[in-house]
Amino acid sequence: MLRKFIYRVGCLIRNPSIDKCYEALKESEFYSSEELHDLQQRKLTILLKFCYQHSAYYRKSFDKVGFNPLLEPINLDVLSKIPILSKDDLIKFNSEIHTTNSFKFKKKFFSETSGSTGQALTFYKDEVWDSYNRSSINRGLSWFSISPWDRNGYFWGFNFVFLHRLKTKLFDFLLCRFRLFSYSDNDLDKFLNKCKRARYLEGYSSMIYEVAKLANKKGVNLTNIKLIKGTSEKIYPHYSSETLKAFGQKIISEYGSAESGIIAFECPEGNMHLNEETCIVECIDGKAIVTNLVAMSFPTIRYDLGDYIELSDIECDCGRKHKVLKEVTGRVGKNIIGFNNKYPSLTLYYIFKNIALSSGLELTYRCEQSTIGFLTVYLEVEVTERLISLLDSEFGKYFKDDIKCEYVEKATVRVKGRKLKDFESFID
Ligand SMILES: [Zn+2]
Repeated sequence: MLRKFIYRVGCLIRNPSIDKCYEALKESEFYSSEELHDLQQRKLTILLKFCYQHSAYYRKSFDKVGFNPLLEPINLDVLSKIPILSKDDLIKFNSEIHTTNSFKFKKKFFSETSGSTGQALTFYKDEVWDSYNRSSINRGLSWFSISPWDRNGYFWGFNFVFLHRLKTKLFDFLLCRFRLFSYSDNDLDKFLNKCKRARYLEGYSSMIYEVAKLANKKGVNLTNIKLIKGTSEKIYPHYSSETLKAFGQKIISEYGSAESGIIAFECPEGNMHLNEETCIVECIDGKAIVTNLVAMSFPTIRYDLGDYIELSDIECDCGRKHKVLKEVTGRVGKNIIGFNNKYPSLTLYYIFKNIALSSGLELTYRCEQSTIGFLTVYLEVEVTERLISLLDSEFGKYFKDDIKCEYVEKATVRVKGRKLKDFESFID
């Protein structure tokens, strides 16, 4: 119970609204389709009015299409009048999109996410938005009888800068979490050992899969895990056959993004339910267009996530009427493959983030791999001697001599007609 206490105290300091948000989400969990529809309409009305009054960007963009939310009645159909936003828009018009009446927010959190071409998107997240996000995850966990303070193993985000690592360890302790720092034998053994006392595991599905494979190779077989949650990456069917064998569970998916929050969460019946209390998801030309209903400090209305999705009309046996997201087809996570080890592609994000933090250099990049042990790094800038030594030293921290990097200077980082990715692998 000490764990619960530590978790609750930390939560209430950081997120005073979290209990209220969680109760609201539990209240509407078994709403009918009509009730969910009404709830969305009410929240959308508040959001659109607020944006028109407090965001210079939205006021201009609504005016351009002759839409005035203060004068017109609002239903879900009005969305189709509003132009679609891209991630580039969020970066380019960042300050105009942010709403101005900051006094309304008790608290704001700085948030940063990797852009598709390495350029970071930064924004402020108001406290209620953040609380809804955490509550949405906690509601999903509750479907599997998991409490957020249960001991859990975490499969992502290793940063080798000492201070970051220290901070990470502190937060991990507070959240009763332990994590895998690398795929090395020693780290892996330690991690699997800790898994024997965990209730759930979460993280990048490609990493969970790799660990499950290694666990199977070592003959490790755990029965104490009640849930494995994969985030941010596509979960291939063959991933789950490995995790079933090693940990007795398939990987269930949580789908979301930093800007849009939790978009969908898989229920015990295996269907991903849209988190309709916090977002409206449209599927236009196969693309996910998401309106975040709870983000007031940095609203994203009709935001093109850059993912391809399929929605479904099926009724789920679990009794929840939230629409079902059949599949996310667009996001694929692959590893970078060295001579001896594998690395999640997210490593690149940390490498370039470290470069930006230490030298102030914001590099736009794209990496490609077609041969094991070699990585081609395309950079928009000129590659000077000084830059080479900086890149070599940051890459070296993660890859040591396992991967040889080739830098291509003054390169076009954007590939026309394809989804922007910071890493692309041509290895099967
Ligand atoms: Zn269901």
